[in-house]
Amino acid sequence: MSTDVTGVFGRNTFNEATMRERLPKNVFRSLKKTFNGEQPLDRATADVIANAMKDWAIEKGATHYCHWFQPMTGLTAEKHDAFISPTPDGRTIMEFSGKELTQGEPDASSFPSGGLRATFEARGYTAWDCTSPVFVKEDGKNVTLCIPSAFCSYTGEALDKKTPLLRSMDALNKQAVRVLRALGNVTVTRVTATMGPEQEYFLIDQSFYAKRLDLVLAGRTLFGTKPPRGQELEDHYFGSLHERVASFMSEVNHELWKLSVTAKTQHNEVAPAQYELAPVFSTVNVATDHNQLTMDTLQKVARRHGFVCLLHEKPFAGVNGSGKHNNWSMVTDDGVNLLDPGDTPHDNMVFLVMLCAVIRAVDKYATLLRASVANAGNDHRLGANEAPPAIVSVFLGDQLTDIFEQLAKGGAKSSKRGGELKLGVSTLPPLPKDCTDRNRTSPFAFTGNKFEFRMVGSSQSVAGPSFVLNTIVADVLCDIADELEKAKDVKTTAQRILQDIAVKHARIVYNGDNYTEEWVAEAEKRGLPNIRSTVESLETIPSKENFALFSKHGVLTKHELKARTEVLLEVYSRQINIEALTMLSIAKRQILPACCEYSARLGQAVSAVSAAGVPAEAQTKLLKRLCELIATLETCIEALEKGVEKASGTKGTEKHAESYRADVVPAMAALRQVADELETMVDAKLWPLPSYAEMLFIR
Ligand code: ADP
Ligand code: MG
Repeated sequence: MSTDVTGVFGRNTFNEATMRERLPKNVFRSLKKTFNGEQPLDRATADVIANAMKDWAIEKGATHYCHWFQPMTGLTAEKHDAFISPTPDGRTIMEFSGKELTQGEPDASSFPSGGLRATFEARGYTAWDCTSPVFVKEDGKNVTLCIPSAFCSYTGEALDKKTPLLRSMDALNKQAVRVLRALGNVTVTRVTATMGPEQEYFLIDQSFYAKRLDLVLAGRTLFGTKPPRGQELEDHYFGSLHERVASFMSEVNHELWKLSVTAKTQHNEVAPAQYELAPVFSTVNVATDHNQLTMDTLQKVARRHGFVCLLHEKPFAGVNGSGKHNNWSMVTDDGVNLLDPGDTPHDNMVFLVMLCAVIRAVDKYATLLRASVANAGNDHRLGANEAPPAIVSVFLGDQLTDIFEQLAKGGAKSSKRGGELKLGVSTLPPLPKDCTDRNRTSPFAFTGNKFEFRMVGSSQSVAGPSFVLNTIVADVLCDIADELEKAKDVKTTAQRILQDIAVKHARIVYNGDNYTEEWVAEAEKRGLPNIRSTVESLETIPSKENFALFSKHGVLTKHELKARTEVLLEVYSRQINIEALTMLSIAKRQILPACCEYSARLGQAVSAVSAAGVPAEAQTKLLKRLCELIATLETCIEALEKGVEKASGTKGTEKHAESYRADVVPAMAALRQVADELETMVDAKLWPLPSYAEMLFIR
């Protein structure tokens, strides 16, 4: 690996610098216009760009190109085509046209569509998203030119995660610019949502992984008793990196830098074998693409180092799960972060309006935000005695809470200051103190100059939560702009709007510990929703209010939103079904036989010892207990089988998912409980699955 980071960075992306170098000036200029949404790309220009891209990619060793898109599976999809174009004399030339660059036509029928596409109507289109740079991906010996794309049906309905994201960025841009204009800003022409997603993950040795069908098929352990040691020593978080892990991280960074992914921060996370990677933030659509590439790269490079990277929200029960912290803000085209409070936030009107708009949006659409992170994996985190809770609330910190309270009373006159921190050691410098302490338990926290949405699951595409956040903030900004635009006295009107928000939405602000029972009770008193399961959460999506919201801002039609909800519910049912079947397979074909074997051995031991004239009391007691548990195991297996049979036969997407939640999930928990107890008794040499202790602590 090269140590020349600046030389490596962006080597595999057709970025602006490369385009400037390789495209004729007029072509580059017209592409920039397309990029800024000012004019569509014409065919002749597209041809020139495609040709330059092809030459560049071939120099990098590429033989194929693909439209790289993000169907509703939450993963990325690619179908490779070689550049070859045979000539009449039996040779081939390498070709790539503007049409091939801008448009693809994959079969859409095998992707989830929630009823938007029937299998017999297969046509789907991919369209080049020129706002995210084209890149070259190296998979083993195969090198492919990847064109980030949106994916839609023959009738133009979004079949992917990216289309609504791009639409929501447009909506946010439009409404934010309106508000800025109304507040007297005449220079800004564009506002863009920014994001920096911190990614958590686990690494385990692949030899253990290969012996666990649950990890292979479901991505999480479905059995496994707690190890004697967990995270209680608090020695893993920020601990010094294990050499093997550090080498892995180094190679991950290297691969990501080649793709222009700004991998910046890396550290050990709270749980043993858990780690985190954070990039420098970028525009939310590029950040989304980059997060997909990050997840891909983590998994790919892990294999090279004999590890497997687990991105599941809860790979190990009883051990901290993994999330994704989506740091989100808005930036103007002249580089101003609209959530930057400055030194005196109380008299920073733009900041206060933006801040209050986000607070109102989060309160008004709390259930939608919650639904944007609902999946089977996250059910093990959100509200399940682990952070963050399923209750959406906003952390503002001392300074902003004080200002918010002043606003409620009619206007903010002052801002609390942070001051200086003295450490009492003459050789240590005094430290400037932030105005506010941190709060790690809040699901939606203001962290200095951005909000951090912490409910997102580690395996999820960040597109969903991001387009929801963009849209709900756009919606509130739209209402604010409507009022400001017709106001006679903008300043007074703005003050009134802020006061109104501060009074109406005080209930969503909570700076305390979100993990406590007291908060759950308090939130209920405040009337905040607490939706603990994926199914219940997804069922809140198709409402009149939400249909109106998404269609008003051109993000999703009613039809598209319904289809998306269907897809998410179906995915939930399928995942639980896979988990249940995997459990049954492991229980029946691995755990039960091991337990039978052990009971037979114990039986032999009892007879042998008794025959020798010694009472085998302990062995008999053990055998009895073992046989009781085996009987319970058998009962639980049958119960789970019944549950699966019932759920799989239940018709209607919602009822189907509901049955998996009510009939299958509890049966899985019961089966696990008895199997885990058996694990603590049965001879370790006979137990068929690697233990938690091995997976979490052996590297
Ligand atoms: P933490 O201390 O919260 O773990 P990290 O440094 O791990 O912080 O991550 C913070 C993330 O927030 C980074 O990805 C960073 O680039 C991102 N970030 C910083 N400023 C902004 C902003 N204005 N908009 C979006 N994301 C931002
Ligand atoms: Mg972090």
